[in-house]
Amino acid sequence: MQIDAIPAFTDNYIWLLSHDGDAIVVDPGDATPVERRLRERGLRLRAVLVTHHHPDHVGGIDHLLQDHRVPVYGPAAEADRIGSISDPLQDGDRVDLLGASFEVLAVPGHTLGHIAYYAPGEPGLLFCGDTLFSAGCGRLFEGTPQQMHASLDRLAGLPPDTRVYCTHEYTLSNLAFARAVEPGNRALAQHLEHVESLRAQQRPSLPSTLQLEREINPFLRVQEPMVAAAVRRWADAHGGPDDPFAALRRWKDGFRG
Ligand code: ZN
Ligand code: FE
Repeated sequence: MQIDAIPAFTDNYIWLLSHDGDAIVVDPGDATPVERRLRERGLRLRAVLVTHHHPDHVGGIDHLLQDHRVPVYGPAAEADRIGSISDPLQDGDRVDLLGASFEVLAVPGHTLGHIAYYAPGEPGLLFCGDTLFSAGCGRLFEGTPQQMHASLDRLAGLPPDTRVYCTHEYTLSNLAFARAVEPGNRALAQHLEHVESLRAQQRPSLPSTLQLEREINPFLRVQEPMVAAAVRRWADAHGGPDDPFAALRRWKDGFRG
């Protein structure tokens, strides 16, 4: 299985998975760059996977369906809003494509019906949409902090070498916030240098790994003493909230490098 990032809009990645001339795409917000890549590589589109209903993740589906008669897998809870889902999915469902078996994980928070796709293997592959970002997490448009925290805990419990394919290139701005939270974290400082050099060469900072995220992502580290102390200081100065994860998320919402 080969996995490529197709850049879209300003900072989205549409992930293209291919094997033996067959391909699937995850969250095709725009059809044009997908069509171009399929043509260039001589690939047959076999399916579309969707994580949640936002336009930058689903906007290209109808156009792709005009040229390709393929199934569209996506969250049952958001099928009404997405419209083009042929195979609605729920937590615990399985999707077999390109010789891989993807487990469906419900990960509410960014949206209420948000799902992620996890293919166990060496390494495992995780397509997590706008739930987990490298060094960050999605904004809470629909869910509660408690829901997002539980969703991230669930993802963080997957094997450490799991490759994490997020949908946005937000890593540098997330790392700036992470540094404000944890200025003494050496893994974080080292990774920032690495990502700065990748981005200077216009290379994606993704995929990440769960092991790396556990070392650098403040949203997976709220119980670490240094993170907990920083969050408490911020919450004390800003009138709460009491819940550390909720406070960290609110701190990030208002953070301007
Ligand atoms: Zn989104
Ligand atoms: Fe998005």
